[in-house]
Amino acid sequence: MFLLHTYDMGLIVQKFGGSSVADAEGMKRVAARIVATKRAGNQVVVVVSAMGDTTDELIDLANQITPMPTGRELDMLLTAGERISMALLAMAISNLGHEARSFTGSQAGVITDSAHGRARIIDVTPGRIQEALKEGAIAIVAGFQGISQDTKDITTLGRGGSDTTAVALAAALDADVCEIYTDVDGVFSADPRVVQQARKLKSVTYEEMLELAASGAKVLHLRCVEYARRFELPIHVRSSFSTNEGTWVVKNHPEGGTMEKAIIAGIAHDKSEAKITIVGVPDRTGVAARIFQAIADSDINIDMIVQNVSAAATGLTDISFTLPKSEGGDATAVLQKIQGEVGFKSIQYDDQIGKISLVGAGMRSHPGVTATFFAAMSEAGVNIEMISTSEIRISIICRATDVERGVKAAHTAFELDADSPEAVVYGGSGR
Ligand code: ADP
Ligand code: ASP
Ligand code: MG
Repeated sequence: MFLLHTYDMGLIVQKFGGSSVADAEGMKRVAARIVATKRAGNQVVVVVSAMGDTTDELIDLANQITPMPTGRELDMLLTAGERISMALLAMAISNLGHEARSFTGSQAGVITDSAHGRARIIDVTPGRIQEALKEGAIAIVAGFQGISQDTKDITTLGRGGSDTTAVALAAALDADVCEIYTDVDGVFSADPRVVQQARKLKSVTYEEMLELAASGAKVLHLRCVEYARRFELPIHVRSSFSTNEGTWVVKNHPEGGTMEKAIIAGIAHDKSEAKITIVGVPDRTGVAARIFQAIADSDINIDMIVQNVSAAATGLTDISFTLPKSEGGDATAVLQKIQGEVGFKSIQYDDQIGKISLVGAGMRSHPGVTATFFAAMSEAGVNIEMISTSEIRISIICRATDVERGVKAAHTAFELDADSPEAVVYGGSGR
């Protein structure tokens, strides 16, 4: 699998993120790279994101018009960002003497469900892409978007969703590899914007990458990793600003790979969640079920849950859970509606929390990980508010202001610090 980077006459899907195409210069640089891949004898399909922070700017603009834009119109607005990129990139490639044809997600056959803002891909029918490739053209596809099978409306796949477009297309086209080009040299042992001593991973397994992505390492969209795992499609995460070999996301670490012995592959952090505490909940069978059913019925995703033992004197307990901040308002409203029926005392909402997660397949066979992690947090003065674990992950909730200190302390405690800083952040605003 690691020989794939020689790419003799294959079909390659290359995805370029917003920071790689932030301006006209970036477009030209990326175009040259695409043309070089094509000249080496490959068929090339490119997926491109909106330029720089365009998506954020469009959201800000919508919010200046109305605090509650409808999903349909917001998706229509946001997909314009990727359309701008695809057309400019096609022009830049054409300028270099190669034919490039741009396609919207809908034209590329990305069929989704109708959940605006977080649509799931149901099917990919890339007939027009195959046609373009057959005729010798480079196909450029707008990332992050599709068309709803039911309503025929334009949908988006959730923030960071261009990665998923790329992997889904690569799977549908039976590509040899999906290359994700971004503003850092690969997947690192921690976010290079936070830990200067982060190490680049040569390889990371689908399993580890899923946990890292789900825990906030936004270098890859979670769904794209799920997709790649399902089709066993190798992903190569690398920088569009350098020619360095990046990180391979694969089923198993290759023989002799340095990561084999590592207990921890990486540390992820996330400041996008909030914590809700329901105070004074009657400790009776069926109460938790009632609360979480109401939350689920409103399509709210929750992450960690903690319930304390009830105080014997009162028979009351507290339940805390975490969820995306963006769903905090809805969740509070749902809970207020059932307060009388369930009979709890009050709701506390806290959006000043952060999450730190250690991920590594090696954790399975190393019992001391939790103790080392918690000792490092204690030494760094980070108070642990909630804990959750999976077989290959430990996550804690702490104050948002403690997150960066905690990540650095854990990185050092697990001896992940590189001897000399090797992580370069080439671009992007980190937004
Ligand atoms: P793009 O615009 O190319 O899609 P993103 O901003 O979505 O780029 O993802 C790249 C960013 O992910 C990096 O700039 C980095 O700050 C962040 N990141 C978080 N965790 C990691 C990690 N473990 N390894 C590499 N990058 C990470
Ligand atoms: N432009 C979209 C976003 O900013 C999709 C992507 O970049 O992957 O979320
Ligand atoms: Mg991204």
